Amino acid sequence: MALGESELHDLIRESVRGIADDFGREYWQQHIDDKEFPEEYWQALADDGWLGVTIPEEYGGEGLGMLEMSIIIEELSRGGGQGGIIFVLTPVFGGIGIQRHGNEQQKEEYLPKIADGDMKFCMALTEPEAGTNTLNISTHAEKTDGEFSVNGQKTFISGVENADTMLLVARTSEFDKSNPTHGVTLFLVDDPAERDGISLSELDTTVPWFERQYQVQFDDLRVTEDDILGTEDGGLYLLWDTLNTERLGGAASALGGGLRAVDLAVEYTQDREVFGQPIGAHQGIQHPIAESYAKLMAAREILYKGAKKWDDDEDCGLEANVAKLLTSRAGTEAADRAIQAHGGNGFTREYEVYDIWQNLRLTQTAPVSNEMVLNFIGEHQLGMPRSY
Ligand SMILES: Cc1cc2nc3c(=O)[nH]c(=O)nc-3n(C[C@H](O)[C@H](O)[C@H](O)COP(=O)(O)OP(=O)(O)OC[C@H]3O[C@@H](n4cnc5c(N)ncnc54)[C@H](O)[C@@H]3O)c2cc1C
Repeated sequence: MALGESELHDLIRESVRGIADDFGREYWQQHIDDKEFPEEYWQALADDGWLGVTIPEEYGGEGLGMLEMSIIIEELSRGGGQGGIIFVLTPVFGGIGIQRHGNEQQKEEYLPKIADGDMKFCMALTEPEAGTNTLNISTHAEKTDGEFSVNGQKTFISGVENADTMLLVARTSEFDKSNPTHGVTLFLVDDPAERDGISLSELDTTVPWFERQYQVQFDDLRVTEDDILGTEDGGLYLLWDTLNTERLGGAASALGGGLRAVDLAVEYTQDREVFGQPIGAHQGIQHPIAESYAKLMAAREILYKGAKKWDDDEDCGLEANVAKLLTSRAGTEAADRAIQAHGGNGFTREYEVYDIWQNLRLTQTAPVSNEMVLNFIGEHQLGMPRSY
């Protein structure tokens, strides 16, 4: 049987499609305009068990895998709004980060709340100076008597205003050329928007999201050894492991967004008549849409393969990166073509396709840029010289 096509997967698709159908364009538009977290939608996902899809049953989850999570994100994204990408910060970074690398106390404290919809995460990695070069981050946590004092700055951090916990990436030892991956630590920082030692200034970004983005300043933020996720100085391994799931989740969201663009283009071009027939009857309109669908179907295969490998504890770095690259490109192209097929209506707020394009265009840059994905493939898969 093909991956992602079992009876269970069909049931999952049907169930999450039902949730997506209950929260339409108006709901998402209102939450995006008001910058308001979609609590009702979040709770509906939690009530049906989907926020805890990968969390082990003993911690209140469904005990399923990344393949199931990818299918859920794809279907929810196909349903519109920010339906699928909403998974990345909490179930992926928080949930998978902690289920894979948390200690027992952290698992008991965080995982049931994530599954129940009672906890939201944000993730603070990007810095103004370091940018894409994660090894170059300078936010540092200095240790004295078992406590750390964190100082530095992050940028473009999404959703701090809604977050119960921030996953913070900081340096705990100086960069050492002979051991470059040593010296970075992940901290779980509770109540980041209210906390002494953290100040936020909002960035003026253009993405149609309900979340805001912030520059985050750390001035003597106090954290302890108990707040460390994984091991001190060993955070990069853990981060890379979690980033693969972020890539798979991001790819699922770009895939679903691209398929939504195709769905909307098909619907519109069947109805709209110019020159006495539906515009979808013209190959100039029909073929680009059909080709986008073909590209998305092909990208889906590599996404599901990567997700299955992750579930089987195999290295999925190549598949996660390829899926991210292909879905972000094919998705953006599909949205661009859907805009073209909508004529002037492609630029009105009544129709969704321009919003979809903005969201998908972003997936070529964030959470990881396509250039860095190609750097990874060139270096690690093809054995070419490191170019960065
Ligand atoms: C809406 C939004 C939300 C975000 N949310 C978060 C968040 O919640 N948490 C978080 O930590 N970050 C977040 N980010 C940051 C995002 O992950 C980064 O913007 C992204 O990784 C690129 O980093 P940069 O902006 O510093 O680009 P830069 O590092 O300045 O790079 C600029 C361009 O140069 C290219 N480039 C740089 N070096 C190389 C090289 N060696 N080879 C080839 N090309 C290269 C890059 O690919 C990129 O296209 C968000 C960004 C946006 C726009």
